[in-house]
Amino acid sequence: MDMRIDASVVEKMLEDSRGTGAGKLDEILDRAESLRGLEPEDVASLLTTDSPEHLSRLFSVAGRIKEEIYGERVVMFAPLYISDYCVNKCQYCGYSCGNEFQRRRLTMDEIRAEAEILERMGHKRLALEAGEDPVNCPIDYVLDAIRAVYSMKSGPGEIRRVNVNIAATTEENFRKLRDIGIGTYILFQETYHEPTYLELHRAGPKRDFNYHLTAFDRAMRSGIDDVGGGVLFGLHDWRFEVLGLMLHNRHLDRTYGAGFHTISSPRLCPAEGMDLSEYDDLLSDEDFKRVVATIRIAVPYTGMIISTRESAEMRRELIRIGISQVSGGSSVEVGGYSLREEGGEQFEVADKRSAMDVMRWLMDERLVPSFCTACYRKGRTGDRFMSLAKSGNIKNVCLPNALMTLCEYMMDYGDDAFRLQASSLIESNIPRIKNERMRTLTKGNIEKIKGGARDLFV
Ligand code: SAM
Repeated sequence: MDMRIDASVVEKMLEDSRGTGAGKLDEILDRAESLRGLEPEDVASLLTTDSPEHLSRLFSVAGRIKEEIYGERVVMFAPLYISDYCVNKCQYCGYSCGNEFQRRRLTMDEIRAEAEILERMGHKRLALEAGEDPVNCPIDYVLDAIRAVYSMKSGPGEIRRVNVNIAATTEENFRKLRDIGIGTYILFQETYHEPTYLELHRAGPKRDFNYHLTAFDRAMRSGIDDVGGGVLFGLHDWRFEVLGLMLHNRHLDRTYGAGFHTISSPRLCPAEGMDLSEYDDLLSDEDFKRVVATIRIAVPYTGMIISTRESAEMRRELIRIGISQVSGGSSVEVGGYSLREEGGEQFEVADKRSAMDVMRWLMDERLVPSFCTACYRKGRTGDRFMSLAKSGNIKNVCLPNALMTLCEYMMDYGDDAFRLQASSLIESNIPRIKNERMRTLTKGNIEKIKGGARDLFV
């Protein structure tokens, strides 16, 4: 059976969980702390409590889980917008077909040029983004674009993983995406609350709530086993949305053996044609942190992504309580890396720093920026990834890969000051690799990378 969600059932779950007693909340947080994850019913209790004591413990448990599972690593990626043609009328989106502006899609040469710029920034992992338009942006165009990105080779590196964030599509198209070797298929539900969904998605194929909601079922059935969910926070009550994500995750886990590979938590930003002040469910920073911490403890092995929609300060706090992947140096405009000019953006970003500045900042925080793309290239996807993660064995490869890709970055893109900072960070992290064989292998590989070897991973 495909994913279904009934708003009244979710509302009842939240209602029933109100006033959960202290003993039960303690038990839920104890269970979360042992890295076992939580059921949606437990999450509902955490979402509705206003006990200051338990909320404060929620944050400390989230911080500990983040540290225990992800250590100091933070994965870096960048979006690549290839087309802003869109036939949907989504009230909050700058690409809405109700907005009039000169639309464009990139040619294959332009896509290669964008990928080349991203490669020169040191990126290895992209999220390919496009509006939905079967005529101007059909699946064959998207497939050609992915081929163009993978085939681009100019500087010292290359793009090694293309995640794809395009509209919900058919099983046949998902099979094509699988065959071409995409990383994660990412799709944001925007809101799990159907009445709000219908109010905001005024026209176009995206208006079909159930078709959008069941996209991951079609993707999974087509052999794409890493899927990334998300909600556009600010469209509806955040408690409802987090519970929606959890129910969706449980559905995928029970039906296909693996829940979300990643969860994104974008917050609504200003965009052309919409007025932020008309949205009643915008989240305060405090509630947003609560969202991230709750998801972190509920699905400890699911990567959590935050984009440049959030400010540097907010990103710093979120990384400590759950976020494991960040974008850096992003443009949210078609051809934006080549143009770097105003206008045509899907929404306004808050963190405008360059990728290297984001990396420097992470290193200042003693975090290890990682360009690792090893898992899917080693076949560690879907349930195989999840079982490795849950057994704790994934850690044996994550830190080595993070350190090797950081070393590669500093050799290829860093200046003297960057190399000094990165070298000391790498040195101080090598002893943290617990498995002795891996530690020795990593040390050897770091030397090989300094000597010119590239793309070493375990
Ligand atoms: N066309 C695809 C789809 O319909 O899912 C890809 C979506 S778009 C390129 C990526 C995401 O940007 C959307 O799913 C939406 O959540 C987000 N987005 C749209 N407008 C936004 C806004 N004003 N603020 C923040 N995020 C926004």
